[in-house]
Amino acid sequence: MADDFDIIDNNESGNEEGPGGKEYCSMCRRPESKAGKLMNFGNGMYLCQDCMQKNLDAMKNMKFDFNEIMNHIPPNLNMSELFTRMQSPNRQAEKEKKKEAKPKLEWSSVPAPHMLKAKLDEYVIGQDHAKKVISVGVYNHYKRILAGDNVLNDGSEVEIQKSNMLMIGPTGCGKTYMVQTIAKLLDVPLAITDATSLTEAGYIGDDVESVLSKLLAAADNDVERAKQGIIFIDEIDKLAKKAEVNHRDVSGEAVQQGLLKLLEGSEVEVPVGASSKNALVPLETIDTRNILFICGGAFPELEKIIKNRLTKQSSIGFGSELKDRFDNDKNILQKVTTEDLRNFGMIPEFLGRLPIVFAMSGLDEDMLVKILYEPRNAIIKQYQKLLELDEVKLSFENDALRAIAAQAIKKEMGARALRAILEEYMLDIMYEIPKDDNIGEVIITKEYIEGTGGPRILMRGQTKTPMITG
Ligand code: ADP
Repeated sequence: MADDFDIIDNNESGNEEGPGGKEYCSMCRRPESKAGKLMNFGNGMYLCQDCMQKNLDAMKNMKFDFNEIMNHIPPNLNMSELFTRMQSPNRQAEKEKKKEAKPKLEWSSVPAPHMLKAKLDEYVIGQDHAKKVISVGVYNHYKRILAGDNVLNDGSEVEIQKSNMLMIGPTGCGKTYMVQTIAKLLDVPLAITDATSLTEAGYIGDDVESVLSKLLAAADNDVERAKQGIIFIDEIDKLAKKAEVNHRDVSGEAVQQGLLKLLEGSEVEVPVGASSKNALVPLETIDTRNILFICGGAFPELEKIIKNRLTKQSSIGFGSELKDRFDNDKNILQKVTTEDLRNFGMIPEFLGRLPIVFAMSGLDEDMLVKILYEPRNAIIKQYQKLLELDEVKLSFENDALRAIAAQAIKKEMGARALRAILEEYMLDIMYEIPKDDNIGEVIITKEYIEGTGGPRILMRGQTKTPMITG
């Protein structure tokens, strides 16, 4: 392909002239004296070899059918036209997608908070307070952006604030799951990102704006839909200011700073179909004013900070109370204030842009048991459905469910451990059962989970046991 390029001769003047009358690279703006030989693409477009390489790498990621394009290039086509043609298959596909694009969310289709909560109840076990807060927050957010000008500009000068949220809760308690469920219920695009993968712009890692590219991709590159979307940033506690750093904190406090503008609302140019900007990727401007940002994190040690504050407050004066009064308070996280979060290391400007703060509780054994079989798409229901296709019934003894939940608690990963544990036990069942057509029912027993016995197998026509869940 290199043969197709004209290497610039310094005596020949291009359409576009760089400093000192010399041509310069159209991407990095370096003159030939700094960037090395430039390739002439016609129409005043020059590229240095570094930028050419970057573009070729980007094209690889954009999955062009390079051979297909090269086979159809007329011999006299100049390079800038070639690039336009190379983008066109993508553009064509985008246009087709847009034709069948999903409709935007309408105000009339946003359920009232109590209905949203009732829907959430079908999927998320427990976390009643959090479900209530998120339902109201999401409802108000969409009211603010969808209810029309008469609500927003009614002349009262009351400006409804953006309801970005901060969720605090131990790992595996359902933070991500709740946001996913809300986005699914409302049918709005959702981007989930991990705060630990973000770094200050210019450093290795994704810059904060990359979250918008993810959202745009989730919205099938439909900018209007993306603007109504939700961005969930997990592990936000990892951005806490570190007490003793003597180098530049590019992945912590600097990322909090970088997120400020996005959280508040700003116009950002986002590459379409790629995660980084470069000359060949089309850009779309996304206004983040109406995007709902939800941040989540486990905030370890936050309980200690809250306890210290409460103990200090209550140990002053006559009404002083025992120091260990808050030691066994299970709902201590619910008492969090922005002051506690500041002491944890979140910067005040960042917290100021997350007006809704709420905590989720850790999951106890009862909740884990329910998570196994109660939600609409509970893991056990999924296994039952799979075996149903082989006309085999799958049931669990209550004690077996408790034994699985007990194992999950030991792993300290919340409900996330349940699937892994269950998968381990179900592997043999899913492998062995289809071997024998006579098997009609499998009952998972406590002994099987605890490794002291096997599952109970009933042949077709045998009566089933009454002590079964699921
Ligand atoms: P985290 O709080 O760390 O974001 P997740 O939301 O990713 O945890 O939870 C992991 C998985 O555990 C979810 O995909 C979901 O299947 C299950 N899960 C967690 N909490 C609940 C809950 N309260 N109700 C139902 N399922 C849950």
